[in-house]
Amino acid sequence: MKTIFEKSNDVEGICLTDELEDVSFLRSSLLRKEKCGLPQMGELEVLRHYKELSDRNFCIEKGFYPLGSCTMKYNPKVNEFLASLEGHTNLHPLLDDEYAQGALELMYNLQEALKKITGMDAVTLQPAAGAHGELTGMMIIKKYFESIGDNRKKVIIPDSAHGTNPASAHMCGFDIVPVKSDSRGQVDVEDLKRLIDKDVAAIMMTNPNTLGLFEENVLEISKLMHDNGSLLYYDGANFNAIMGYTNPKLMGFDVVHLNLHKTFATPHGGGGPGAGPVGVVERLKEYLPTPVIAYDGEKYYRNYNLKHTIGAVKSFYGNFGVLVRAYAYILMMGNNLKEATENAVLNANYLKEKLKKYYELPFDEPCMHEFVLSGDRQKQYGVSTLNIAKRLMDGNTHPPTVYFPLIVHEAIMIEPTESETKQKLDEFVDTMIKIAKEVETDPDVVLSAPHTTPVKRVDETLAARHPDLKFPI
Ligand SMILES: *Cc1c(COP(=O)(O)O)cnc(C)c1O
Repeated sequence: MKTIFEKSNDVEGICLTDELEDVSFLRSSLLRKEKCGLPQMGELEVLRHYKELSDRNFCIEKGFYPLGSCTMKYNPKVNEFLASLEGHTNLHPLLDDEYAQGALELMYNLQEALKKITGMDAVTLQPAAGAHGELTGMMIIKKYFESIGDNRKKVIIPDSAHGTNPASAHMCGFDIVPVKSDSRGQVDVEDLKRLIDKDVAAIMMTNPNTLGLFEENVLEISKLMHDNGSLLYYDGANFNAIMGYTNPKLMGFDVVHLNLHKTFATPHGGGGPGAGPVGVVERLKEYLPTPVIAYDGEKYYRNYNLKHTIGAVKSFYGNFGVLVRAYAYILMMGNNLKEATENAVLNANYLKEKLKKYYELPFDEPCMHEFVLSGDRQKQYGVSTLNIAKRLMDGNTHPPTVYFPLIVHEAIMIEPTESETKQKLDEFVDTMIKIAKEVETDPDVVLSAPHTTPVKRVDETLAARHPDLKFPI
């Protein structure tokens, strides 16, 4: 496919000074000396160009998207409509509280809803992503220990954790201490006991963990940590695993972040805006970023008055448009949020049971919202998990997350989410079985996949490390 520059009749483009008679009102140092090289095309041609490009993109509206740990579920279109209402989009963030009561009420109500869902005592909506929520949470934990004069240096993190966990803790100056998983994929409590000492500030856990398994010893772990004066951080990126059934407070956690752009149905991918609200227990309330949104019984207002606040972590109040979508989703679902969890867990277990005959299942236990297969069996035929992922693209399916978590060989991490039908799940099962058979009978067709996509194999390392995003004109 040609770029828009190649399609253009005249890549010279225009220069503002050509169009305007008198440019003396503009500062001369700012005037462009040469033409800027914008492509020249008619409106229809521009539309066709971008339509063709967007058709090449894969999205949830196009097909199944079982990208483990990313919760690529359906984002209801009504959320988009509500977020695009003028009252939301044209509201200036610097208006006085009295002129923004509706927006403040919405944020306050969202904070309250997230308090209920997590069991926490206070919530900030500021962080713009899951990793940003982790950073905020770890800054709170750091400041808490500083303020009680107990400068603890270490944070314990399971070896199955999402990479952002150690990264966030490290950015706050903590030393990372990994704790092993046992043969059932659970945090090894004996290993943990050996690692606990008075220098441990916190443990960061994901429950269910990234293997999709519920940590059965979580209450024992929280007691061990609290007895040591340590805090517990809960990575709640994939809350559709537990929502309405249990919460981090009941499990003994002190700080939690949520990914509104996963669990609460706001679009994500492509680095677009997200939201990673953080909830804390009572004793950490005063450490939250300011402002938090408060209500005095009559008016909603921004409260900047928190004794130990870590300060702001984002301009204004967070990604407001994302907050509107998530609030709309929560209102629309009401008590059915619990049903979302049921379906997410049911769908994952259904796929796991259907596929375990064809792919190795390292941890054969009931899973929560996702499960992890291994491509080890297929590896004997010279076909890797990467090849299987590429072959899935020929079946109009986004590949699952691969090679993560790191503790499973040739990992294939599948998260169907709650918004898929049984028919769609069955289609995916059929495709996975077909590929497993191809691996044995015709491995070349898998090794050379994808065959139907506009772009075949790319050098992923090069693309990540040295992205070349500029077209030479
Ligand atoms: C997605 C995810 C994160 C990070 O969230 P971002 O919004 O991508 O920063 C952290 N932990 C887990 C378990 C996740 O699935």
